[in-house]
Formats: sequence, structure tokens, C-alpha cells
Amino acid sequence: MSYIKVSEGKGLEIPNNPTIGYIEGDGIGPDITKSSISVINASLEIAYNGDRNIVWEKVLAGEEAMESTGKHLPQESLDQLKKCVVSIKGPLTTPIGRGFRSLNVTLRQYFDLYANIRPVKFFPGVPSPVKNPEKMNMIVFRENTEDLYSGIEWKYDSPEASMVRKFISENFSINLTDDTGIGIKPISRFRSTRLVRKALEYAIKNKRKNVTLVHKGNIMKFTEGAFKEWGYEVAANEFKEQTVTEEEYLKEPGMYEGKIIIKDRITDNMFQQILTRTEDYDVIATTNLNGDYLSDALAAQVGGLGIAPGGNVGDIYAIFEAVHGTAPKYAGMDVANPTSLMLSGEMMLRHIGWSEAADILEEAIMSAYRDQKVTQDLARVLNIKPLKCSEFGEEVIKRMRAKKPES
Ligand code: NAP
Repeated sequence: MSYIKVSEGKGLEIPNNPTIGYIEGDGIGPDITKSSISVINASLEIAYNGDRNIVWEKVLAGEEAMESTGKHLPQESLDQLKKCVVSIKGPLTTPIGRGFRSLNVTLRQYFDLYANIRPVKFFPGVPSPVKNPEKMNMIVFRENTEDLYSGIEWKYDSPEASMVRKFISENFSINLTDDTGIGIKPISRFRSTRLVRKALEYAIKNKRKNVTLVHKGNIMKFTEGAFKEWGYEVAANEFKEQTVTEEEYLKEPGMYEGKIIIKDRITDNMFQQILTRTEDYDVIATTNLNGDYLSDALAAQVGGLGIAPGGNVGDIYAIFEAVHGTAPKYAGMDVANPTSLMLSGEMMLRHIGWSEAADILEEAIMSAYRDQKVTQDLARVLNIKPLKCSEFGEEVIKRMRAKKPES
């Protein structure tokens, strides 16, 4: 077995047959994972004729892991993901208001996958609730390791909540009633800066037009507001040559040809801007909670969660996954849309530098959408007969093979 190597200064060393970890996930996870792995394998076969392929290593997590090991995320699974360096996962269930902590959040923190990268663009043929969905081409860089998702919270009637209430009452004269649950929102300079840096590096490499810092700094001044300040700071200190602030740009628009415009928007305004001025936004860098909300709203504009991919990427490790969750009502029915995970696989192929296979995969998915070969989430809007999850995978593979150049 060949694992991806991480070498100091050289980044990832990718063998021709890397072992990549996969978590099937809960709910619709097994259906969409099976379909996605088969299309990824087909794209590799077509792009590289057997010279490059992936050895898939199954990693247990979620309900399946609980059944066979008594733990939702056993240490052995973490060790496997570490060894693989790059992995892909289906969605995992997180109980609300009780039970264990989110496995997704645990994985992101354990492997320091600090950037949750979520591209959102329109595929012709996909039904959309807006008039001009083709204007959408954004990519969200969402901070993935802190903010209200840090898991620092206490139930209203716990001794910890009581201690915290007492502490702030005695030290800051802030009095909270006894029925108040407490959560803490940490936002740090280091973590904000590295996230914005990653978004800026992406924008420069991919010749994007602008980077928008999305924050609620008017209200949460020292967390969200600080995120904004640190974002502008990293642009000015590390990317001065390549960037210009919106304020400077608007004074003399002609002066800054080719530079990336750095702007900021308050979150609530941003939710209307993505509808009213879609084409004005490009790369988005934001905090954890904002990014989670915003990426679902963006996905809805171009066809919904069934086609929204993502990657959790750090400086070493990466785990790719769909934006959506386990959609439990469709579990085991072979009806879910696997596109989101297939496109997460496409992102993964680009991450390891196998862009030929990624292009083939993306083109085949787009071709299926152009001909309105779709699963039930979109078929019900178009009022046409849906393909099953597995049939959509077969359709994508058929289209890849049909385009295969003669050898
Ligand atoms: P969800 O699983 O994303 O599903 C919400 C709705 O979105 C579904 O009912 C369905 O809409 C649509 N949908 C999502 N994925 C789809 C797909 N592939 N194909 C077709 N339709 C799809 O959100 P949820 O119901 O709020 O969460 C369920 C569980 O997933 C929770 O335990 C949550 O914690 C977990 N979750 C996990 C992750 C993760 O693993 N990263 C992320 C988010 C949520 P219709 O009902 O309109 O058909």
C-alpha cells in the first residue's frame, strides 16, 4: 500500500496509487459514497488508463462504528485518517440538544482542518428559484476550528453554567438568570489570519476578482469585528502588491487593474447581497457560524444541497465532504442526489494534483445536468421522472466513457 507522504517544504508527495480513506457516513451516506467512489474510479481509469488509481481504505465512523466497536469515532479510525492524509467522508449524524459531540467538528479540530472550502456555481439545466442563477460563482472559505462551534458550552442547570454566571456577576456585574445556558465564542487572531490567508492565496492563484470578509462586527465587536480587522491586516501586510481595499479602489477605479479587491460586508446584509448583487461577489472569507449558514443559502440559489461540495483543508490533512447532512428520511432508499459528494471528490482530485480526472468528472456531471438527467430533489421541481442515486452514477460514467478519446 502506498500512502501520501508529507515532506517538509515540498508539500504532499502523491504516489500513483495512493491509499485514500473513506467514511461511508450515516443516513444517505452509504448510497452517495458508493456512487461517488464508482464515478471517481471511472474518471481515473479514463484519464490515466491504469497508470494512476486510488486504493480505497474504509474508515469506520458514526452509527456503523458504534455498532461494531462501541464508539462513534474509535482511535483506530483517527489513526487511519492520519495515515491516509487525504480522505473523503459521507455525512455523520449529530444529535441535537443531547448525546455526543459532533463527530464532524471533532474531526475538523483533531486534524486542524481550519478551512472549510465550499465552491458554489451554477450548472446549466439545474432548476433554480432565482432568475439568473448563472451569475453565481462564489467560493466560501469558512473558518472551521473555533467560534461558537468550539463546543465550549454548558447546560443552564449544570454546575459549570452556575460557576460561569457567578464569575461574571462578581467580576463584571453582569447578571444572568438561573435558567440561562452559556456558550463561548472564541475568535483568535492566529486562526482568523490563517483562514483569510488561505482565501487570499486561492484568489491570487485562481485569478479571482475580489475577496469579501463577512462578519457581524457591528454587534460582536471583539470577535466578528476583530475577524474583519485581522482580515484587512493580513491582506495589507502579506499581499500588498496583489490586493487593494474597496475603499481605495472606489476613489480611483482605473488605478488598480488586475488587483484583487478586498471588501467586507455585515452578515445580514450579505444574505440579501447574494440575491440582489450576486455577480459582485467572488471569494468569501468568514467565521464558522456565518459560513455554515451562508453556504446553504448560496447552494439553494443554484439547485440546493444535493449539488453542494466541500473540503475541510488544513496545512497537512484534508477531508472532503458534501455540505449537506445525512438526510435521514432518504436513508437506504437509493434516491439521494450524490452530486455533492461526487464534486467533493472532484475537489479532492484537484487537491492531489490530478486535475485531468477532475475535469473529466466535472464535465460528465455537467453534461448529465444539461440533459436534465437528475435525481428526485431536482426532478420534482422539473416535473420529470427521477433517476435513482445509483442510476445517476451510471449516467455520469456512461457520459465519461462516451467522451473517452480513442487510444
Ligand atoms: P440535511 O441532512 O442536510 O438535509 C436537509 C434536507 O436537504 C433534506 O431533507 C433534503 O431536502 C435535502 N438534502 C440534503 N442532502 C440531499 C441530497 N444529497 N439529495 C437530496 N436532497 C438532499 O440536514 P438536516 O436534516 O438538518 O440534518 C440531518 C443530520 O445530518 C443531523 O444529524 C445533522 O447534524 C447532520 N449533518 C451532518 C453534516 C456533516 O456530516 N458534515 C452536515 C450537516 C448536517 P428535502 O426534504 O426538501 O427533500
